[in-house]
Amino acid sequence: MSVIYLDNSATTKPSEEAISAALSVLSSEYGNPSSVHSMGKNAADILNSARNSLLRALLGDEISSRLPKSSALSPVAPQPYGRLIFTGSGTEADNLAIFGVTQHYLKNAEKYKLITTDSEHPAVREPYEYLKSLGFQTVYIGTKNGILDMEQLKSELTPNTLLLSLMLANNETGAIYDVKTAFSLAHEISKDVICHTDAVQAFQKTPFTASSIGADMISVSAHKVHAPKGVGALWISCELARRSRIRPHILGGGQEYALRSGTENLPGIAAFAAAVDANGGASAGKAFTERCARLRCVLRDALPNGVRENIPEGDYLPHIASLTLPIPRSQPMLNYLSSRGIYISAGSACSARKPTVSAPLLAFGLSSSDAAATVRVSFDASTTDDELTEFCNVLGEGLATLYGKKQQTPIR
Ligand code: PLP
Repeated sequence: MSVIYLDNSATTKPSEEAISAALSVLSSEYGNPSSVHSMGKNAADILNSARNSLLRALLGDEISSRLPKSSALSPVAPQPYGRLIFTGSGTEADNLAIFGVTQHYLKNAEKYKLITTDSEHPAVREPYEYLKSLGFQTVYIGTKNGILDMEQLKSELTPNTLLLSLMLANNETGAIYDVKTAFSLAHEISKDVICHTDAVQAFQKTPFTASSIGADMISVSAHKVHAPKGVGALWISCELARRSRIRPHILGGGQEYALRSGTENLPGIAAFAAAVDANGGASAGKAFTERCARLRCVLRDALPNGVRENIPEGDYLPHIASLTLPIPRSQPMLNYLSSRGIYISAGSACSARKPTVSAPLLAFGLSSSDAAATVRVSFDASTTDDELTEFCNVLGEGLATLYGKKQQTPIR
C-alpha cells in the first residue's frame, strides 16, 4: 500500500542531508564538544557551524560575515547577533524562554503581568497556567478567525507587563498572527517588556527574521523542518543576553552559555543545521509558501462537498488546512484514512490522545461539535497534486462508507 503522508505539522520526514549529517557525527565525529582534545575540538567545530546555520536562518544571511568561523573563536560576551541556545525540543525552548524570564520575579509575582494568546500550543499554555498558580497576572488575547485582537492587546499592555509570548503561526489552523505589530506596540509601552514568539510551525515555512518581527526571543524545533525529533533551539537577543534577563532552569556543566546545561545532542544538532541549510536557510520560507499556495488550490478544488475549510481571515500557512467534516466525530475518519495509507490528524498531534476539544479551534470560533469533527491536513513542498486528489477521493469514499452520505467530488 502506498503512503500519503499529510501530517507534516505533527512531524516531518528527515531529509537525506539531515540523516547523513547525523550518521557522520554518530560514526566518526563522536567527541564531546566540551572536551579539550582534538576530537572534542572537531565536535565543537561541528556545533559552532550548526549554530551559525541556525543564526543565519533566523537573522538573515547578512550576519554571515560576523559569525565566528571556528569554535576557538566563539565569543563569550554576547555579540550583536545574540545567542542561539540548543535545547532538547521546541517545548523546552518555550519553557526556557518563559521560566527563564520569570524566575527572577517569583517573589513579587502578583505585581507582574504575562500576556499570551488563547490558542497557544501547550508548550506555552501550560507554563502560563503554572505561573498563574504562582501568582502572576496572566492574560490570554483572543484570536477569533485567526486574527490577534489588537484592541484587547492594547488595553492589556501596561508598564508592569513582563513577558508577551505570541505564537507566529498556529499549529491547528495555520493562522499567521501579526506579532510584528504586537511586539512594536509592546515595546512602545515599555522598553523592558520581553517579546517571545513560538515559531515552531512558522520557521522555514513563511519568510521572517528576528528583526522583521521585532522579537527578543524565538523558539524553533528540528523535527518540523526535516530533521530528527529531540532537538530545538531558543534564540535570544543580544540585549537580553547582555542584561542577563534570562536565567537557566537546567543547571550543570554550563553548556550552551550556561543557559542549558547538559552535553549537547550533537548528531541531532548537526542534522538540524543540515536540514535547515538544505531547505534554503533564510530563503526557505518564501519558496515553501509559494509552492504550498499552489498545492492548497489543488486541495481546495478537490474537496468533497460538505467539507468546510476553516480559513483564517488574515495571513495563513497554506500547507495547513483545518477541515470540518459533515460527521459527528473525526476519529473514525482518521482510522478509515489510515487503513488506506493516508495519514492526517485531528487538531494537533499533542492533543489528539486527550478527549478534550481543541482550545485553539474553539478560540478560532468553532462550536464544540464542529471542533470535534475537524481534522488537520498538513502537506509539504514535496507533496504532489495526485496525492492531494487521492486524499480527497478517499475522504469522499469514507464519508459515503461510514456515514452513508452521498458525496460528489467536484469534476475537474
Ligand atoms: N509549539 C508549537 C506551535 C508546536 O506546533 C509544537 C509541536 O507540535 C511545539 C511547540 C512543541 O515542539 P516539540 O515537539 O519540538 O516539543
